[in-house]
Amino acid sequence: MMNNKYKILLIEDDSNIRNIMIPMLETADYQVICADGCGMGKTLYQSHQPDVVILDLGLPDMDGMNFLSFVRHDSLTPIIVLSARTDDVDKVSALDAGANDYVTKPFSSAELLARIRMTLRNYQHRSNSGKFPGGVFRLQELSIVYDARQVFIAGREIKLSQTEYNIIALLSENCGKMMTYAAIIKGIWGYPDEGSVKKLQVNMANIRKKFGVKPGEQWYITNELGVGYRMNGVNEE
Ligand code: CA
Repeated sequence: MMNNKYKILLIEDDSNIRNIMIPMLETADYQVICADGCGMGKTLYQSHQPDVVILDLGLPDMDGMNFLSFVRHDSLTPIIVLSARTDDVDKVSALDAGANDYVTKPFSSAELLARIRMTLRNYQHRSNSGKFPGGVFRLQELSIVYDARQVFIAGREIKLSQTEYNIIALLSENCGKMMTYAAIIKGIWGYPDEGSVKKLQVNMANIRKKFGVKPGEQWYITNELGVGYRMNGVNEE
């Protein structure tokens, strides 16, 4: 019988965490291979070609960032960073180095499993469709027609400025992925300047208003202060 389970490479040196995570991932029907350092992680990555990598950043032989750049050199295999580092700067540098997502220790198994599902779905969506079927992006009630640069909520068109549209289009093309401020600014304006983050926040507030979202209400974009924005379905996290 073909083994069609998703294969996860877990790179983590803490055996207590491995002993919790392995059965948790196997119960969720993933196949798990394990490395306790960066060097072993690279070897197993090459021999096993995993579907997802869960990567601890604090590893004994090398920093996990080293593994990130090793993979991103020639592959888009999803990588979820697992880190005790709560500092925003570390999250931002891991995301900018190509991590798809991160989970901060301590985390719940529900949270990690949700991140894995979201990352896999996002990755498949991108690789299956090239772009999106018929050039239309759909997420629950939100749809975006790329050729016409039109955005709809439940069939009602939302009139956005050029910049606002560009932001929404960029986030939708990376749906599910946490995009750092720097990555969005580079994608929209090409270069950062002093006021870029503020400018981005103002645009985001305007988009939110045009979408008709009330204060405190969940919508398609979540903001992690000091890190960036992520587009995902409402009530998915
Ligand atoms: Ca560690």
